[in-house]
Amino acid sequence: MSTQTLEREVTKEGSGTHSKMRALVFRGKNQIRLEEVPMPRPGFGEAVIRVTLTTICGTDLHIIRGEYPVEPGLILGHEPVGVIHELGTGVTGYEVGERVLVGAITPCGQCPYCLGGNWAQCGGPLGGWKMGNTLNGAQAEYLLVPNAQANLARVPDDLSDDQVVLLADIASTGFSASESAEVKIGDSVAVFAQGPIGLCATAGAKLKGAGLIIAVESDPVRMAMSEKMGASAVLNNKEQDVVAEIRKLTGVRGVDVAIEALGTQATFENALRVIRAGGTLSSLGVYSAKITVPLEPFAAGLGDHRIVTTLCPGGKERMRRLMEIVRSGRVDLRPLLTHHFPLDRIGEAYRVFGERLDGVIKVAIRP
Ligand SMILES: [Zn+2]
Ligand SMILES: [Zn+2]
Repeated sequence: MSTQTLEREVTKEGSGTHSKMRALVFRGKNQIRLEEVPMPRPGFGEAVIRVTLTTICGTDLHIIRGEYPVEPGLILGHEPVGVIHELGTGVTGYEVGERVLVGAITPCGQCPYCLGGNWAQCGGPLGGWKMGNTLNGAQAEYLLVPNAQANLARVPDDLSDDQVVLLADIASTGFSASESAEVKIGDSVAVFAQGPIGLCATAGAKLKGAGLIIAVESDPVRMAMSEKMGASAVLNNKEQDVVAEIRKLTGVRGVDVAIEALGTQATFENALRVIRAGGTLSSLGVYSAKITVPLEPFAAGLGDHRIVTTLCPGGKERMRRLMEIVRSGRVDLRPLLTHHFPLDRIGEAYRVFGERLDGVIKVAIRP
């Protein structure tokens, strides 16, 4: 926490305007608690929104399990829809009370990385991911939005919170796999793993005009959902030799694009094994161990392969575009919100989501 923030809190305490809110706080490995914490107040260029809907991400589970380091005391969550509660100075063109969607990645829009088009890498590696990482997050009644001018995306009146909440992260990330791979109309695409992001990657391949879309997954609920999201074939990696099957489905040639949406050596390697010569491996997974590139499918480095990675594209223009896709009826992500919980029961929501109980895909949390 910066000295500036500390000073601001002290002032607030002293002035007697201090009020509290409920939030999910990370207290250390495997320790999360719903706590009463001070309400955020917006500084210059910032806004505070009253969160009306949020969700839990696989990344939050990594944090809780101690696999991704954040400071104890941090409020988790990075996928908010809400209503503008207070605007800091320097934020123009918005009104208190407007409904907004904020992307998981909140770029500043001004640094060399942002101006170069790498908004997710704002300020340096992974720097665009601030909420629930380096700043307090969205699993709370109120949320401070940094660089509000670049990140408050107005939600059209005809869209509900449920329709847009997944655009903040998993849809932006999932769709980006096909965008980064520059999928062409009629391309064949294989998507490895159909978790929340993989399912959105399947939907993204369809949106980008892929022809054959092959999903790889063994969980029956997710296999069924992947067809709903646009898969033309679903292969069960526990029962089938998926590399051989994909080769068969593509006339031995291989797919134009393989999307990795899990973050394991096995799926990375299989993705590489199924792309055609000159094809693209588009990687979304978060890897936690060393990744090795097998020589033979990599054609000893001479196969003209492309390997691209993408961290969730954010910022208000990205969110606006994604909302337009939903609004025009081109995609509906609501089936992915399989469970709903009030903030009071977020502990239970974490258990259901973390242990993948009851066919859960994503949980909606209503503060
Ligand atoms: Zn996330
Ligand atoms: Zn930036």
